[in-house]
Amino acid sequence: MSVELATTQDADPVKVNRENSPLALRGMTVSYGQKPAVFSVDMTVETGKMTAIIGPNGAGKSTLLKAALGILKPLAGTTTIYGKPVEDQRHRIAYVPQRASVDWDFPTRVIDVVLMGLYPQLGLLGRVRPAHREKAKGCLDRVGMEDFATRQIGQLSGGQQQRVFLARALAQDADLYLLDEPFAGVDAATEKAIIAVLKSLRDAGKTVVAVHHDLSTVTEYFDNVFLINTRRVAEGPVATTFTTQTLQDAYGGRLAAPQMEALKLI
Ligand code: ADP
Ligand code: MG
Repeated sequence: MSVELATTQDADPVKVNRENSPLALRGMTVSYGQKPAVFSVDMTVETGKMTAIIGPNGAGKSTLLKAALGILKPLAGTTTIYGKPVEDQRHRIAYVPQRASVDWDFPTRVIDVVLMGLYPQLGLLGRVRPAHREKAKGCLDRVGMEDFATRQIGQLSGGQQQRVFLARALAQDADLYLLDEPFAGVDAATEKAIIAVLKSLRDAGKTVVAVHHDLSTVTEYFDNVFLINTRRVAEGPVATTFTTQTLQDAYGGRLAAPQMEALKLI
């Protein structure tokens, strides 16, 4: 592509938006078999905001994140991270997978899990230096796990493991944080600790995108929502986009009136 001087043509808001976006998907289609799990999805994540990806079970939320990260190869579609291909931007992305998908059969200490987040920063010899250990400990401190550094990860509770994975993500010094159901199966104290860390990242100008299953906390936790049910349903600020209509569009008849009532939606 040729490089041109800026003209009024380049001020196309959609294009500018996409080039600035921490994560922009266009026409993303992913299939495991015959039927696509994600179909022709466009998404444009806003910088410095917390965005919830919501939709029913099997809606393609995890698939969308994995395709965005290049872990799954889409049938069609493109991902750009800050306007560039994902391969060139990996160092700017931290990913916390759905906890159930991680199996800790072999013994691994908590501190070593966090140090994994530092590997790209270790240099050619990959040597862990005292400064790296200090940094990893600092990340454990931020999630309230500083006393568990030498414990085996497999011996921790679900909530404790989730905090450690968040500490590993923090060690990466990323700009974009992608988390798949970070609050699933964690205790209330862990949920509070995680949301506080995510908000502090957001307040420092980082961008957070999380698959989120608890509709009752969307308004309290997030700035923006992205609703999906294989196809994109809606995307935008919580105040205008998290509505009875969009939820019905995403969940079909699966949300009963009392649940809607409890959410106090417009
Ligand atoms: P969500 O995260 O929204 O619950 P997923 O992205 O995990 O949904 O799954 C979307 C659809 O793709 C579901 O129908 C699911 O059964 C299917 N699916 C997910 N992973 C696989 C896989 N590895 N192989 C085959 N089908 C899959
Ligand atoms: Mg999922």
